Order: sequence, then structure tokens, then C-alpha cells
Amino acid sequence: MIKTYLISISGQVQGVGFRPYVYSLATEFSLLGEVSNNENGVIIILTGIQKNIQQLYQKLINFPPPVSKIKQHSILEIELKEFQDFSIVPSNKNGQLNLPLTPDFAICDDCKNDIENKENKRFNYPFTTCVNCGPRYAITQTFPFERNHTSINEFPMCKSCLNEYSNPANRRFHSQTNTCATCGIQLTLVNNFNEEVEIENSELFNKIADLLSKGNIIAIKNTSGYLLCCNAEDIKAIQKLRDKKHRPNKPFAVLYPSLEMLKNEVELNEKQLKSLKSSERPINIISLKNYTGNIALHQVAPRLNQLGVMLPYTGILQLLANEINFPIVATSGNIHGSPIISKNEEALEKLSNVANYFLQHNLKIEYPQDDSVLKFSQKFNQEILFRRSRGYVPNYLKVEIDSQEKIMAMGAHLKSTIAFYPNENLYVSQYIGNLDSFDVYNRFVQTSNAFTSIFEQQPEVVLVDKHPLYQSTQYGKELAKKTNSKLIEIQHHKAHFTAILGEYNLFHEKVLGVVFDGTGYGDDSNVWGGEFLNYENNSIERIGQIENFDWLLGDKMSKEPRVSLFALASEEMKPIIEEKFTSSEIKNYTYLKSQNKLKTSSVGRLFDAVASLLNITDYNSYEGEAAILLENNISAYNLKNCRKYTSATSQGFSGIEIIKNIHKDLLKGEQLSFIISNFLYTLACAILEFAQSKNYTKITLSGGVFQNSTLVDMLIELKPKGINLYFHKDLSPNDENISFGQLMYYLHIKN
Ligand SMILES: [Zn+2]
Ligand SMILES: [Zn+2]
Repeated sequence: MIKTYLISISGQVQGVGFRPYVYSLATEFSLLGEVSNNENGVIIILTGIQKNIQQLYQKLINFPPPVSKIKQHSILEIELKEFQDFSIVPSNKNGQLNLPLTPDFAICDDCKNDIENKENKRFNYPFTTCVNCGPRYAITQTFPFERNHTSINEFPMCKSCLNEYSNPANRRFHSQTNTCATCGIQLTLVNNFNEEVEIENSELFNKIADLLSKGNIIAIKNTSGYLLCCNAEDIKAIQKLRDKKHRPNKPFAVLYPSLEMLKNEVELNEKQLKSLKSSERPINIISLKNYTGNIALHQVAPRLNQLGVMLPYTGILQLLANEINFPIVATSGNIHGSPIISKNEEALEKLSNVANYFLQHNLKIEYPQDDSVLKFSQKFNQEILFRRSRGYVPNYLKVEIDSQEKIMAMGAHLKSTIAFYPNENLYVSQYIGNLDSFDVYNRFVQTSNAFTSIFEQQPEVVLVDKHPLYQSTQYGKELAKKTNSKLIEIQHHKAHFTAILGEYNLFHEKVLGVVFDGTGYGDDSNVWGGEFLNYENNSIERIGQIENFDWLLGDKMSKEPRVSLFALASEEMKPIIEEKFTSSEIKNYTYLKSQNKLKTSSVGRLFDAVASLLNITDYNSYEGEAAILLENNISAYNLKNCRKYTSATSQGFSGIEIIKNIHKDLLKGEQLSFIISNFLYTLACAILEFAQSKNYTKITLSGGVFQNSTLVDMLIELKPKGINLYFHKDLSPNDENISFGQLMYYLHIKN
């Protein structure tokens, strides 16, 4: 019996080869009809034998294209429609976007083979892509995902590309990003005076490799933004990059030319291998234990026993990788604290002092993104996302929201992101950066504007952090006024808590929220950062904290760990304080401390104080440096030998006592590694003791402190039976999750 059915699919289904795949299935099952993209996803109309239609549907749902993600699907019989054939119908925009935007995909193995194969038409062409790979979000102008809605549209396909595009048997059948050397994107190498280096295309990457080997710094325009690159084994080049970028200590990521070389130099486990080769292809922070390579580690990752590594994820990086036999530093193209640069003129203007050469191209990048960063904890392989950007953004697919309101959440300040709920989907922007920078603030405003324009929706509710001085709060207030929206302020740590409650949908449970971070504006106007929060029945209450200590000298406190030590130190530590401060500083700060009314419960500052007390660092040159150095000073630990520096009470625990007892161990001459292990062990025990004393069975852990993978491992190891721990999985534990948390708070919390 011949019938007609309508199949609707939503999710990450555009720009992922869905329509050509449906075409091949229709041929396989001898069905007629059409497939198109629309504002909701993919629509398929099929006419033919009912059994065949059902078979096609089952195969499509169970074995979708590799980089697609189906969220919803339905099949419905409709009035019989006759077709002559099966066709892919180009889609027009006829409604408001209501589907996920497709993220960028790393180059696939087939395309990698094409660009490396001398016989292939695409040999040496860096912008080779197919339905399974290439830039998507980075080049999106509007939707549905069609070539004429992206910046690739400026490169009309040549006859040969058009043939591939129209041939159902070709891998590039209906590949929207299809180009080749004849019709496609052009690379140009210029020096820092913007003078073109005359060179044959076939020699280009060889030339760049040569320049890198001679110590040059090269700004390379990738498909998601500029990268600054130099030879990772060249001490002088890296030091020059540090000086020019105003980045004295913050570690650089390293791009390895091949997995083989990486495997020869470090040990990788299965999870790391899978992540490094994934279509998201993030930077993985790996341990340098047993490292055997020649990277100038002291310059690349000063004082650290870990390194951020990645593999080539675009044709440009792959072709370069094929010409080099050394790893290269590949760091976001910007000056310290600014957003990643994506425009040729801006790169020349801002980086000509840093880079000797610029590898430019003429594809416009609509959404510049940094590389994403993650780490697997050493013992239990717990995945910890440090930065969610290229490959992951902007969709957040794993949450069901049932609200008619259009909601925009403006996030925090230091690691800002924006979350937007304009339709039936939730979008969480890429990491934007620290809003203290004017350029980052501009990028933040652009991101907010881009969201409202691409989805053609203005917010009706704007959510901001309670901190009155956050740039994101101030912008949110203006936005609410301009759009006549409801404005809601949400406490920072409560937003952290609801972020993780939202990731696991724990809103029907009673949960202990542990939120440890640097700083956040508290409900009592103090600086919070070491919080125990109770969630039940759509209500959050602060039930414990680390004992308040003095918040001194404003921002200086988070930049100078010695100031945290000053705040937490007791009388016996006088000799140490006298070494770290001048006598007039001591006089002034002692007076300030005696008059001070602003208190803090920040665990971040407790880490700083420990780092200063142990003489690891007195000044942070980047956010979280003291905490990272602390973790890096642990050689190995055995929980059976660890000792606690304090215990939890029903109110929380005391940082002052921890510092006092660490000082005692220091005087006894205990090893640094032992003391730091004890410190982390103390925190892990305090969390579990607090939870057990109040009979919690579910503990969520959020806040930047939980980027500490040793603390995470210890918690997992110490966790008694019957207690469940929840760590962030699709978002970072740091302030990047605040925008999502604000949204969850608004939707679920009633007090
Ligand atoms: Zn491909
Ligand atoms: Zn072409």
C-alpha cells in the first residue's frame, strides 16, 4: 500500500550531512519525496511502501550521521502526495530559528587524507571540508544552515565543486562548506609591515615551518580566530612571545604535529586519546610525569608539572603539522586580557609588535572562539572542563525547559558567558573573558546583540549577578531597561549551585551544594566563596561556610597571595609576615585589619594564603596561579598517610585553624608535597564530614576550586558508600557556568 509520511527531526541536524544521508536512505528503500531544513530542524516527506518508510525512519533515528545529535523526532501519516523522484529542497528562512546552532567540527580523517594525497584535487588545500567536518558556528550569519547563510557564500563553487555538490554518490553531496583551491579561500603570508611574502602555494607551509624553526613568531588565522605560534623547543622565541604578549607565567598550549609524536613524549590514557581525536578536539591538560621530549617546559609552562596539548583540528594546522618535526606553541591571538582576534587588519594593528609574520586568509569569521580546554583527573579520570568554547558552543542540549518567557542571563565577570533561552532551545555562549578589559566588554556586548539578532528575539527577562559592580550586571540593567524586561539579581554562589542542579536535574531532591571559589557578592554584602548551601523544595539556604576572615585591600587581595596570608595569619607567624612586607606596610595593614568590617569566606583566598605561607608565591600573575602552583607541588600522595588540619563543625570549618596547623608542620620541617596533600585532604574531609553530620546523600561541587583535580580525586576516593558526588560535566566548574546557573535559578527557585 502506497502512503505518504511526514518525518520531523530536531536537534543538531543542520550542517551535519543530514539531508544527503536521508537522500541515500530514500534511494536504499526505494522511496520518493523530499527533504529540507527549516527553522525547527529537518523535515522529510516520503511516499512509498509503508513498511519501507518505517524502516527508513528506524535506521535514520538509530544510525544518524556521525556529527549529528537528534533531540526529538516524530512521524505522521499525511494525505497522499505524488513525487517523480526524491530531492533535497533548498530551504528558505520562513520563521524564527528554533533549533540548535551547529558547532565547529575538527577536520575528519577522509578530508585529512584528501589534503595529504598528491593525486587528490584537494591536495594541499587547507579549507577542505565535507558534511562531517569544518567550520559551522564560526561562519554562521543566519539560519537555516545553508551556504548562502554563511560567510563561505562569498566563494561561489567552481564547476568541479558544484559537480560534487550535486552528485549523490559524492561525500560532498550537499556539503554547504564545499570549496577547493580553484574557487575557495586564499591564504596570504605577510610580514609585520603587511608586505606580502612572494611564495608558491605549494611551498607555503614549508616556508612557515622554516620560519618557525628559525625562531619566528607567526600569527596564523585559523577558521575560529588567530593563533600565535612559535617553536615550543625554542627558549628564546617563547620568551619573546611571553614578553610581547605581557604574559609572564600563564602556561601556553602546545600543538603536536602528530599523535605519534605526542605518544612518544608523554603517557596518554584512553580517555585522553579519545578526547584529543574527537570532533571537538579540545586542549587536554596532561601530566608531565615521565615526559621525554624537548619542549622548553620552563618557558612553556613555568613551574608546572602539567602541559596543555592538542592535535591539528583544521586543514591549516594539519598542513603546517605535516611540515614540522617539533611541537609548536599555539596560543590565542591576543594581547594579555583581550579577546581572541579574528580580523586581518586588527591582527596587524595589535599583534605586529608580537608576530614576525601573519598567515592570513579571506574567509570572514563571524564568531571567533578560543580553543576549549579540559583535564582528566589523574587517579579517577574525572573530566573537568576548564574552558568551553570551539567545538562545544553554543548549544546546551541536555536540559528540558518549559517556559514561555524569553530569558537572557548575563553571567559573571571574570569568566563571562551569556545564556539565552529564546525558543525551545538553550544556548550558552563561548567563554568571552574578563570584563575588566574594554575589548572583552565589547565582545560581550556583541555576543548579546548577536544572540538577539540571530534568533530575532528580545529578552523579556534579564538575569544578572547580585554584584553591583560587575560589568555584566551593569550591562544587564541597561538591557532590561531598553527592552522593558523584568530584571532579576541572583546571588553568585546560589547560581553556581543551580548550575550543577540543572546539569543533573536534581530539582526534586534534597541536595547539599558545596561552592568554593574566589569571590562573589554575598547576600550579607560580605565576600563569599566557601559556601555550604541546602536545596530542597525549590528553595536555597546558606547553612554553612568557612569561618569569616578579613577581606583586605580590595582587588589587591586576589592579586597578592601574601595579603590573604596577612588576613589569616596569627601571632606566631610574625617572622614570616615580616619577611613578606615592609614595616610601613605592616603598620598600615595592621591598622586596616583592626578597623575592617568587610569579611570573606573565600576558599580561593585560603589557597592563596597557603601558597604564600609555603613560600610558593606571593603574587599572582594570572588568575588562580597560586592554587595551580600548589597542586603542582604535590609529587604523589597516599590518603592513608594524610593528616587533617581541622574538622568540620555544624557551621562549616575554619581557615584560620588550617593556616595555624600548616605553620606548625612547616616549623617541623615537613615536606611541601606532604603539607599540600594534607591541606587538600582537610578540605575533602570537611566537605564529607559536613554532609554526613547533616545526613545528606547528594553533594554537588561547583566553583573554580573544583578545577583542582587532586581535590576532586580525593573526594571520589574518600566518599563513603551511600553518598553521591556530582561534578560539572558539560560546563566548567568556574564562573563560566554562572549564566546557565542564573537561568536555572530563575526557573526553579521560589524563595
Ligand atoms: Zn571531512
Ligand atoms: Zn571549487
